[in-house]
Amino acid sequence: MKKIFLFCFITVSVSVMSQSTSLKEKLQQLPFGSVKPSGWIREQMQKDMAGFVGNLDLLVPSLINDPIYGEGRLQKHSKTKDLGNLKSGDAEGDDQYKWWNSETQSNWWDGYIRNALLLNDVNAIKKTRNYINRILATQDADGYLGIYDTELRYRFTTENGELWAKATLYRGLLAYYEYTHNQKVWNALLKAVDNVMQQYPIDHSDPFNVGNGFSGGVAHGLTFTDVLDRMQQLTGNKKYRDYALFLFMNFSNNISSEKDVQLKNIFDPGYKLQSHGAHTYEHLRPLTIAAYASGNSELQKALEIYLSRIKNCSTLSGAPIGDEWIGGRSANSTTVGYEYCSLQELMNSYTVLLQKTGNHQYAEAAENIFYNAAQGSRDPDHSGIAYLKTDNSYEMMGTKNGEVEAGRNQTRYKYSPAHQDVAVCCNPNAGRITPYFIQSSWLKETDSILVAALLAPTVVNTSVKNVKLRVEELTNYPYNNNFTFKISSAKNIHFTLKVRKPDWANNIITKENYRIENGYILISRTFKSNDSVSLDFSAEVKVREDNNHEKYFTYGALVFAKPIAATAIKGKIYVADFSDWMYKPVSNTRYAYADSNPGYYENGKIIVSLKNQSNNTIEKTELIPMGKTILRQVSFK
Ligand SMILES: [Zn+2]
Repeated sequence: MKKIFLFCFITVSVSVMSQSTSLKEKLQQLPFGSVKPSGWIREQMQKDMAGFVGNLDLLVPSLINDPIYGEGRLQKHSKTKDLGNLKSGDAEGDDQYKWWNSETQSNWWDGYIRNALLLNDVNAIKKTRNYINRILATQDADGYLGIYDTELRYRFTTENGELWAKATLYRGLLAYYEYTHNQKVWNALLKAVDNVMQQYPIDHSDPFNVGNGFSGGVAHGLTFTDVLDRMQQLTGNKKYRDYALFLFMNFSNNISSEKDVQLKNIFDPGYKLQSHGAHTYEHLRPLTIAAYASGNSELQKALEIYLSRIKNCSTLSGAPIGDEWIGGRSANSTTVGYEYCSLQELMNSYTVLLQKTGNHQYAEAAENIFYNAAQGSRDPDHSGIAYLKTDNSYEMMGTKNGEVEAGRNQTRYKYSPAHQDVAVCCNPNAGRITPYFIQSSWLKETDSILVAALLAPTVVNTSVKNVKLRVEELTNYPYNNNFTFKISSAKNIHFTLKVRKPDWANNIITKENYRIENGYILISRTFKSNDSVSLDFSAEVKVREDNNHEKYFTYGALVFAKPIAATAIKGKIYVADFSDWMYKPVSNTRYAYADSNPGYYENGKIIVSLKNQSNNTIEKTELIPMGKTILRQVSFK
């Protein structure tokens, strides 16, 4: 009875919502490229471009070179593609394999374009330019820029990749346009988005009505709202956000195999998240965008409920369950894995929430994922990432800490530059995560309030009251907690530098006069044309508890881990220097929490006494940042 009532409310509320007022967004995202990486992050990006991010087209050439947006567009009789994967235990059917190369290509290019531009990598920019020209040449006269032939497009009744192929492609085109101001790219985007809005008219079409079979590609397509959200920000044209709201409500009211974000499920108090993780976390963005576009209080309530459910699914490093279905489980540092794709999707959803709400807690959450879970899923010794990973990682031989999974030959728990045996989804997303993090590190609140929200070594170029301004954030954060903001501008200028005060900081050391407001430090004064601000945050070793009451250690933004020595075993060789790597532990000793003494921090390490469970003796142990480990123990019972 209750459910029926809710369903009715939700169905009728679409028209009500399109008339209500949008919520004011607290912060503005700067144009892509305004914030550049420096320091260790820049070095890591350069390494990635010399590694799997810059070379994925050489590792899986048939996937990247498939002309799926051009002469190879999908037709009625197109066959399923051989992606070179094992398909072992995949029950989702073959239809997804038709559109899959569009995701692989466009997510990879999105990351590639952003890395190339942020690093000012001349050769990669040249390659990007050629790609942009090639892809724009596939656009039809009516604006269609996608993967389907005329006989198929916009008239699906089952699984398809219409909107998803577009969302992934257009996100990269937007970054390129924002950086270059290339009018050809902008006009192509305007026409392409209009084409979608004409063919699936607002309130008079049913794009997510595709029956009750597996519809993962259709559900991914809901992230077309990413494109609409940014188009609205760039143009100020409300039609994009109204359309995003329409898409969200249409998705919510239809049947989907990825149903966690549907309002009837959000408002069902007994419902537990269960869909494919990456979908669930990327869908946090359309829900947020819809809540802001509508100003509707029910959608805001839904957003709150959804966020608390995601929190329950997140481990101490901020990583959400995604191995690959959530399946009603709660997070666990040893027994529940997370997918690299989910790290990018959830981090990106938190940065969108940060932009819209200004709430510093979303910055904390984004930093936790980026600096702990994501860094901790990279192979520190070879160019590659883990497709799946757990916080406590006792072996990386393909399976989850040695567990045998019924009906699935699990190979995702290893490091690879491509993971082609499973799916080439995580590596492209690993190329996106750093540029997306960097882009959200600086935002603007007003024309004279500049906000350092995510702390990182960066340089921002912007203007304040029409005066050009450059701020270099000199730091080795999160590996130390000292910052110098070097400010250069054409003339002396009065503005507010707003820096997020990390939750863990127990003291702020600075010569500046400041005030604290809602988790931010505000320094308002006239800055000279060459000026600087120094800020130190003092940290201490903290013993924290995860959802399962296991203890873990942090210092500043970093989670620390007991590294476990491992033997590296070479797996599949893609091309010279690029291969899979597996890691076998040298010892199976586990440690337990020993006393209430938190230990101390010294030279990048936490020194602490832990109980060796193999002989029950207390040992003085060194912990290092989990982001620098392969095998490790991070939580202690
Ligand atoms: Zn993935």
